[in-house]
Amino acid sequence: MKREFAVIGLGRFGGSICMELSREGFNVLAIDMEEDKVNEFRNIASHAVIADTTDEQVLKELGIRNIEHVIVAIGENIQASILTTIMLKELGIKKITVKAQNDYHEKVLNKIGADHVVHPERDMGKRLAHKIISNNILDY
Ligand code: ATP
Repeated sequence: MKREFAVIGLGRFGGSICMELSREGFNVLAIDMEEDKVNEFRNIASHAVIADTTDEQVLKELGIRNIEHVIVAIGENIQASILTTIMLKELGIKKITVKAQNDYHEKVLNKIGADHVVHPERDMGKRLAHKIISNNILDY
């Protein structure tokens, strides 16, 4: 059986995760509260739905319980990101990856049991710095 993913928040970050997983042939449930964003992914993801994931009933109705790995890519609305993560945890999702907006957000996400917290700008900055250093070493 194919692995099942859900991506909540289809901004640049969540959208590219959704695109790449779909391209690799995985089943992806794409979720955003904005209709325009969801429409962009109708022909890319296996399912694309308009939903506000801070509503517990909505999450239940989406059948998110059956999904093995959920990626929460809600950026600016930290409250919505935290609330969504808590409810996913309560629903028993096995693997939850969340994008953090800042250090405080990251700390809260770790406390409430997110399995993997990413901080894309900071992580990418660190990786690039190391790449620059190793390229410089190779240059000598
Ligand atoms: P990026 O940098 O990845 O473009 P961002 O960090 O600016 O994104 P936002 O644009 O704040 O992040 O959020 C990403 C997406 O999450 C948006 O498309 C937004 O509509 C969606 N979103 C925000 N709150 C919710 C929610 N409660 N339920 C579902 N989707 C949501």
